[in-house]
Amino acid sequence: MSSSDRLLKGIGVSPGIAMGPTMTVRWALPEVPHRVVSRTQVEKEIRRLRAAIKDVKKQLAEFRVRAVDRAGVDEARIFDAQALMLEDKEFIGGIEELIRENHLTAEKAFEFKTLEVRDLWTGAGNPLLKERLADLTGVAIRVIQHLMHKGTGADIWETLSEPSILVARELSPGLTVQLDRDMIVGLISEEGTRTSHAAILAHSIGIPAIFGLRGAVARIRSGTKVILDGTRGTVLVDPTPDEVAEAERRDTRRREFATRLEEAVTQPSVTVDGVRIALRGNVDLPEEVAPAKAHGAEGVGLLRTEFLITGHSELPDEEAQTNYFRHVGEAFPGQPVVIRTYDLGGDKFPAPFRGPPEANPFLGWRAIRVCLDEPEMFRTQIRAVLRAAVTANLHLMIPLVTRLDEVERTREMMHEEAARLERQGVPAAKTVPLGVMVETPAAAVMADRLVEISDFLSVGTNDLTQYTLVVDRGNARLADRFTPHDPSVLRLLKLVAEASRAANKPASVCGEMASEPLSAFLLLGLGYETLSVAPPALPLIKWLIRQVTTAQARAAADAALAARSAELALDILRFALTEAVDETLLDPDARLPAGRRSGSLKL
Ligand code: PEP
Ligand code: MG
Repeated sequence: MSSSDRLLKGIGVSPGIAMGPTMTVRWALPEVPHRVVSRTQVEKEIRRLRAAIKDVKKQLAEFRVRAVDRAGVDEARIFDAQALMLEDKEFIGGIEELIRENHLTAEKAFEFKTLEVRDLWTGAGNPLLKERLADLTGVAIRVIQHLMHKGTGADIWETLSEPSILVARELSPGLTVQLDRDMIVGLISEEGTRTSHAAILAHSIGIPAIFGLRGAVARIRSGTKVILDGTRGTVLVDPTPDEVAEAERRDTRRREFATRLEEAVTQPSVTVDGVRIALRGNVDLPEEVAPAKAHGAEGVGLLRTEFLITGHSELPDEEAQTNYFRHVGEAFPGQPVVIRTYDLGGDKFPAPFRGPPEANPFLGWRAIRVCLDEPEMFRTQIRAVLRAAVTANLHLMIPLVTRLDEVERTREMMHEEAARLERQGVPAAKTVPLGVMVETPAAAVMADRLVEISDFLSVGTNDLTQYTLVVDRGNARLADRFTPHDPSVLRLLKLVAEASRAANKPASVCGEMASEPLSAFLLLGLGYETLSVAPPALPLIKWLIRQVTTAQARAAADAALAARSAELALDILRFALTEAVDETLLDPDARLPAGRRSGSLKL
């Protein structure tokens, strides 16, 4: 096969090179050939079925132990549910009956019964039964594959003998959080884009990843050696020794470049013309606090709290949240830590908080709407922030605002909770700065009014782009249409920057745009003086800030605003940035973005 046939292209969502064998997660019922056995073989088939069930139960128990170790007791319960299915007398009895009466093979009988129960449950319209469908399918895959001697088809809990690259149809944020970082060194997913939450997590954690690689599961056999380049968005299958050596050289060059960038970490975040830019970190998981600090973050501009409950069976109580917020706050003494209240819904419904099924979850019961409708949950979070704010500079920020009353109601609740804490004699701040996430066109258009009733604005460009262009941020098929540099989005970004400037209140950007150098350059030009970025991108963005003047950035932003398309806006920015920075200092493999998609400058 020529190298071009072996080179697969997707969307690089987390930079870096990873090499190793792949492990494909193929989570679908296998094809079972239709075969009947003779009457004399029936008892043998039943014995085969029982032996397979016993083996799979043993395997589930082993996975469970490993899951407890890695992800916690709650996540491990999924294996209990599957084991219970194998103890269900009616279910197993039904399979044995099919073997006895219809002389089916054990695997065919298992498949038959599974499909029958699946149809029954699907038709019942009971949401609880729908949830059990996943357990049923999971256990059927395991048993049938075992009977067909195919192994379990890989599972993140299986033992890997060497660091591997996971290939899956879709990666959820929940699954991404649980990965064993020592053994999973790269991720390939057929679905998803740069702004899917699983991609954001992979980037924050620092695992090289490619999403939106169509047909990956079918095209990359489990165990195939690949070179994954998350910066370029490519996967090279079955590399030759020369190609491996070249990738190793590329990796070394990138690492050297990264080391050079690290030098910027201790230097001030100031443009060439002396404008201070506050550079904060986005923190999704507790373990990102240390890298954010190490990379010189001046506080946290976005603390995503929903990941605190991913992988747990219950919402964290007030004490647990207070401790977490205190821990993050105290890691950045004196510097602001912006705690975003639960942004549940959309693609984020962690186990303890199952929302009702919705036809359009991204237009549905999400974020601040959920918080205001679930006051006990919301008040617990607000109380935790107020309590932790005694020893830290904490801010509260609400996601997906579309109306002024959402901000007003939140502020009222904060005052009520502060008064309650005082009555109870619990040490707590009386108030903390309250910020609004501008991530809907409604909020951007109303920014001048929202800024009047809040203390700061922060733009979530991931959702703002999604809702302005009506492009699902996680849909790989639409990835080319997800263009944060579209003139419509740029106009909204400018509107927000101007509204906050007029009100003399700070505005920042915490969406993924801020983590890309080209976009960060644009944002400086639009007047943003606070950026909150993924911890691994901090050195690069700091380096960029120190290379440019605000006048250069302003001129580029003005020209981009006048462009008639995202592509032209990007061309303009690319050209202006090439003029502004010393290109010899750039990573030779990741020069200014060559393609239409932004972000290839990222390390
Ligand atoms: C955004 O929408 O840009 C954002 C920062 O929030 P999230 O990615 O968590 O939706
Ligand atoms: Mg958002």
